[in-house]
Amino acid sequence: SKPTTKIFDVIVIGSGQAGLAVGYYLRRAKLDFIILDNQPRSGGAWQNFWPSLRLFSPASVSSLPGRMMTSAKDKSSPYLEDVLSYFDNYEKHYKLPIYRPFEIQSVERDDENDCLQVSDGKFTWLARAVVSATGIWSNPYILEIEGSQDFQGEQIHSAHYVGPEAYQDKRVLVVGAGNSGAQIFAELAEVADASWVTREPPQFLPDDVDGRVLFERATQRIKNNASDGAEDESNAQDSHAPKGDIVMMPPVKQARDKGLLTTKPMFDRLTEQGVVWSDGEEESIDAIIWCTGFNPELEHLAPLDVIEDDSKVLTEHGQSVKEPRLWLFGYGDWVSPASATIIGAGRSARENVPALVEFLKNES
Ligand code: FAD
Repeated sequence: SKPTTKIFDVIVIGSGQAGLAVGYYLRRAKLDFIILDNQPRSGGAWQNFWPSLRLFSPASVSSLPGRMMTSAKDKSSPYLEDVLSYFDNYEKHYKLPIYRPFEIQSVERDDENDCLQVSDGKFTWLARAVVSATGIWSNPYILEIEGSQDFQGEQIHSAHYVGPEAYQDKRVLVVGAGNSGAQIFAELAEVADASWVTREPPQFLPDDVDGRVLFERATQRIKNNASDGAEDESNAQDSHAPKGDIVMMPPVKQARDKGLLTTKPMFDRLTEQGVVWSDGEEESIDAIIWCTGFNPELEHLAPLDVIEDDSKVLTEHGQSVKEPRLWLFGYGDWVSPASATIIGAGRSARENVPALVEFLKNES
């Protein structure tokens, strides 16, 4: 039977940087597409980040295809508001067909119309291909640790951290050795009785390198793997590339220069009042900020039965192996090199959207 509703070439779910970069290339390929996003305004997850957050990569290497990011205050490490105005101008400049807010609940096969069905529980859209660019931010991961249900103090994930003010003179633990942990701890160390708790000692990049290195190294790692298959740690961080993954942002550098950038090993368990350290000593704590990362937000893809046990999707250059009409952008190295960074989102779209366009041509 003829479909009652139109069938788009592509529906993109998510209008963060990954969705915008894909939209740029779909528009250039003159495909009939729309972008659906569940947030009330532009910016993707960036609209929820803490106000003092700064980019770990300079504006010059944090740009999406076609348009440079500028920074009112500091070109070397743009502020959050620079990123938000950049994304807002980007979608307006390229007149990307973004409709919001729509919270997509499911993507399913529609055999009758030989396409995919995207639904938010009320409306249904049909498309020949679907791009999932839903990011990781809405799926924060908190370490499972004994006693976490009993702890009466405040526990928040870095995704919901809004700034140091609320922790003035409080006893706070920042848990996690990534960029969020470093930046949040550096801020809190100035105003609170804060400790930075990490399982492994944090690895700092040299002062003179920025997020670009993270991108280049991820690209190199993927290239090496593609050539020799196995993930061989030794070549993953090829000899001359600087070691480490924490970018020495201005606030992190300041904390280090004040001798504040020290860490404690992970505590054993939580109690009602606080923590029990590995030496058995108990300490009462006011708040814990979990900077323990994120998992990909893929719930809406469950009906396609493509989510593996490791909560990822098997993809080749972004295309789902089990459902060729499904494509993923963003999320991180497992989809394409550094695709969870701004520069990586642009490069992944430039490399993989042409394959999606080709796929649709062959399908028609
Ligand atoms: P998102 O920005 O999360 O966009 C996904 C969009 O899809 C969101 O609007 C989301 O609400 C929406 N969505 C999700 N599920 C649904 C659904 N079911 N239906 C409809 N819409 C949905 N990268 C850098 O390059 N430089 C940095 O300095 C940097 N700093 C970072 C600091 C922090 C604290 C974090 C968490 C990340 C940082 N990143 C940085 C990494 C990266 O840029 C961000 O994670 C970025 O948000 C990823 O963009 P994205 O488009 O993949 O996902």
